[in-house]
Amino acid sequence: MALFHRSQGAEHESARQRCQPSYGRRVDRLLDALLPPLCPACDTPQSDPGGLCATCLHKLQALGWQCRHCALPLPNPNVQVCGACLHSRVRLDPVWAGFAFNAALRKMVHALKFQHKLVLAPLLGQQLLQHLPADIPGDGFDALIPAPLHISRLRERGFNQALELSRPLASSWHMPLRSDLLRRDRATRKQTHLDKPQRRANVNQAFSATPEVRGLRVLIFDDVMTTGATLHAMAKALRQAGAEQVGAITLARVT
Ligand SMILES: [Zn+2]
Ligand SMILES: [Zn+2]
Repeated sequence: MALFHRSQGAEHESARQRCQPSYGRRVDRLLDALLPPLCPACDTPQSDPGGLCATCLHKLQALGWQCRHCALPLPNPNVQVCGACLHSRVRLDPVWAGFAFNAALRKMVHALKFQHKLVLAPLLGQQLLQHLPADIPGDGFDALIPAPLHISRLRERGFNQALELSRPLASSWHMPLRSDLLRRDRATRKQTHLDKPQRRANVNQAFSATPEVRGLRVLIFDDVMTTGATLHAMAKALRQAGAEQVGAITLARVT
């Protein structure tokens, strides 16, 4: 009897499941008509569900031609390196930043990091991918390394935005995404109000890399580049552990 009931229940269940998709779709269509999907960045109604709205996309300002070693925008495509980097002994190679860190992108990055709008990470990662030149990152890189958070910051936020933003790049480039190769050993002060020397001191010796990076050519990924102090501190740790080449990609750069 119990078996009969289970079987009857299963029949009812499968009939219900068969009906559910079309019923569900109808409900979705009705909800879409009544409540249009919202842009995840600005919360305004839009026709394309799941993506950024046309206004937000328009506000993303691609940096274009830039210094090969610090991503400073350069006016002339015949110039590859800015004046400061010409005199610099320690360089990241290459460095590319996708967008200017303007007010609109600042708002999106803050929403991702501080309002936990995780949905923005793959969308911004995809936009970055679409705006990178075809020759970036170049051949032969062994791993993409997201800028690590200190464990206390990771616990507080619940996720590492650099890791989430970099997933579409690693996937498209078929490059291993290795968050295990670099660690942030020291919780550092927020850098917002620090000048360049203070930033350098703040992140100095904050990172350590595993011996596994020896002989590897690696690319660091970070969300925003300001003075480059954090990228250089990470690169130093990777070089000290034996990395052969260190480059960097960032979603945005302060200009
Ligand atoms: Zn929008
Ligand atoms: Zn430069």
